Amino acid sequence: MKITEVKTFPVFYGSRNYLFVKIETDEGIYGVGEFGITWKEQAGVGAIRHMASDLVGQDPLNIEYIWQILFRGDFFPGGRIHMAAISAIDIALWDIKGKALGQPVYMLLGGRLRDRVVCYTGIGGGTPDETARTAKDRVSEGWRYLRMSVLDRDGILEPSTAVRDSVAHFAAAREAVGPEVEICIDVHTRLDPPDTIRLGRKLEPYDPFFIEDPLRCENPQTYRLVRSHVNCPLAVGEHYATKWEFRQLIEEELADYARIDLCIVGGLTEARKVANWAETHYIKIVPHNPLGPVSAAACLHLDVATDNFAVQEGGLVGRTVMEDLFPVQVPYDAGYLIAPDRPGLGVEFDEAAAAKYPFRWGHGPRLQRQDGSFTNW
Ligand SMILES: [Mg+2]
Repeated sequence: MKITEVKTFPVFYGSRNYLFVKIETDEGIYGVGEFGITWKEQAGVGAIRHMASDLVGQDPLNIEYIWQILFRGDFFPGGRIHMAAISAIDIALWDIKGKALGQPVYMLLGGRLRDRVVCYTGIGGGTPDETARTAKDRVSEGWRYLRMSVLDRDGILEPSTAVRDSVAHFAAAREAVGPEVEICIDVHTRLDPPDTIRLGRKLEPYDPFFIEDPLRCENPQTYRLVRSHVNCPLAVGEHYATKWEFRQLIEEELADYARIDLCIVGGLTEARKVANWAETHYIKIVPHNPLGPVSAAACLHLDVATDNFAVQEGGLVGRTVMEDLFPVQVPYDAGYLIAPDRPGLGVEFDEAAAAKYPFRWGHGPRLQRQDGSFTNW
């Protein structure tokens, strides 16, 4: 089998862009992948165009060889955009391999060790009562894991206010759903050490399942500081590309959960390595999935085949999304993704539908401090 064409599809859907890649072969089998760095999709298109010359004519089943060529072939390390492009290609190659061998991708990653994958979904509201109500609603729909975010007020994020508001909303959600539903909180890198430590200490009595991204990712050793003050599990890693960026986090046990983003880290090939490395430190994976149906499917296959899996970010799972672009998607039921039986990833892509959703230039949502300065969203 030979790769004949690599196509990119940047699309604007809902409130943001997505970038899908389709790899075609001379045997009529195609694979689909997804790029993970939002608002940098055209850079991804360019990176994938550069890589296409290394792909056309290759046997798509030689995934590790192709990964190494794309990663190291041009001498200079390419960075995170480059890795997100490799991720999209790598996921498409696993899709092709599964279809070629007549097996779901999880069977190629070690096999099926669970039938379904538990997911979390988001809660929130303008007041603690509203957050509590959404928490109850989600639990009544079948969700067993919930996640709220650290809160701004109408686009303004003042750390002390955000800490107080977030604790009040978390406490209300805990009161509403009781002790047996797990609740996570995503700081989303919005705080720096003093305030993220204040938040963590105030949340301890309410038993968070994890505190996510308590800091930005550039300086992993600062997690030591948070860990030495906060007695709650931490979940970190959605910014990281490659196993090397996860190295310190895992080896120094700076987090309890590895938030691998399969569409940034280097695809299923690299995510499998990070997950296995995490296993040696009793760190479980909670794959990051804010993306589309291809990302959700890739996460599902890794989770089905990985023992040290904790919970999956639901993202758009379970809602009606992109049904014309992806007329076949992985199965879902009441807070769980279900291991599919179809060969490959188990999604089908209609490239003609992509033309209905043209790419839009722009940037993501942003937050300010009261004084007008910029702060992390
Ligand atoms: Mg996150």
